[in-house]
Amino acid sequence: MTVPSGAGAYESVNVFFDRAADRLGLDDGERELLRRPWRELEVSVPVRMDDGRIQVFTGYRIQHNGVRGPYKGGVRYHPLADRDEVRALASLMTWKTALVDIPFGGAKGGVECDPRLMSTGELNRLTRRYVMNIEHLLDVNRDIPAPDMGTNAQTMAWMMDAYSQIHGYTLAIVTGKPVELGGSAGRESATGRGVVTVMLAAAREAGTGAGRGSVIIQGFGNVGSWTARIAADAGFKVVGVSDVDGGVYRPDGIDVESLLAHSHEAGTVVGFPDADSVSNEELIEQPCDFLVPAAVGGVIHAGNVSNVRAGTVVEAANHPVTPEADDVLNDRGVRVLPDILVNAGGVIVSYFEWSQNLYQAHWDERRVNVELTKIMRRAYEKVSAAAKDQGITYREAAFLLGVGSVAHVARIRGFI
Ligand code: NAD
Repeated sequence: MTVPSGAGAYESVNVFFDRAADRLGLDDGERELLRRPWRELEVSVPVRMDDGRIQVFTGYRIQHNGVRGPYKGGVRYHPLADRDEVRALASLMTWKTALVDIPFGGAKGGVECDPRLMSTGELNRLTRRYVMNIEHLLDVNRDIPAPDMGTNAQTMAWMMDAYSQIHGYTLAIVTGKPVELGGSAGRESATGRGVVTVMLAAAREAGTGAGRGSVIIQGFGNVGSWTARIAADAGFKVVGVSDVDGGVYRPDGIDVESLLAHSHEAGTVVGFPDADSVSNEELIEQPCDFLVPAAVGGVIHAGNVSNVRAGTVVEAANHPVTPEADDVLNDRGVRVLPDILVNAGGVIVSYFEWSQNLYQAHWDERRVNVELTKIMRRAYEKVSAAAKDQGITYREAAFLLGVGSVAHVARIRGFI
């Protein structure tokens, strides 16, 4: 996450944690216990590249908090997936799983690499070596990885295979796998479906009518593309989309299926013929009802927040709004729906996948989507009610509920 103020991503997330800890009246020891990651592992990941060279990458698995259940969190392959970033993402998982009340703790993994510059063979070898180096921390009741930026169902299949070669066939060791290999129906679309569930609930609550309003989405990977597709199906008008190479904008609405076909073919949304070209920075500044950052962190910051002209910011990415920018948006009356609520759909369906694997069960997609929507709506209502009761923002309410739940269970277990 690029946090222009100079603070690292982890300290930036902790601004929100500290506000919740203040409200909960946690003392210094309790704060320290909940704030610090419990275990951090840094590993070297040597890979034989296709040209015969050995390249050594740096990887991490950070287990932030396991009070409420096995550690759970994705693995990111990205040049900026350093220790600070992974720590921040791990802590967000702790508060997210607690907020939506699924029985997991929080963790995250990462490898500092650029998967766009690597071949399938190189990525396969990197993934296996990474798993070999962290496997002693993993177990179906201890720590269960999943996909994040730069990783996907294929990466999870390799991870499951690498782990199983050491420990025997173990489907439940990762989630987000291909459906043919124990993956859950509906996992791929889960985060986007959760994002749109929150948008619909927010629209209903604001009285603007469910499924109406214009949407701009930054990022067109797993989360961004499914959000675009499901939002369009729900009746929202998708007017702008971007990826790492640039963006496209059309105030009358973009045909999402045609954009998907173009992006599939060209490898980017750039060059889509039925919309204007814009830069990522310009796209964020276009007027819209819902602005959905669904790529990297720190994209709305003190330097550009005054140009944001959205009615509501929907944090599909993790930590896309810095604390400084968050304060400015709140002061201006722009509603910010926080990451730990908005993008929880992925880990919720990961929970379904893990349970199905443990019980050799198979749910159909309809059942997955119904249960997912139920949990997302319940979480939204809890956050909205707490925000109204206490006169605080949605983010403050979400952190209050998440941190409060972990602190409570820590006391019951005797940690505190
Ligand atoms: P992905 O790798 O599938 O896609 C990322 C997208 O972001 C791509 O379109 C890429 O081109 C774009 N992108 C990368 N850098 C960019 C930049 N600087 N500016 C604009 N666009 C950029 O990743 P994903 O799984 O869709 O994850 C996106 C975000 O959602 C991340 O913050 C991730 O932590 C979060 N998230 C993902 C899941 C999940 O289930 N995959 C769940 C919860 C949260």
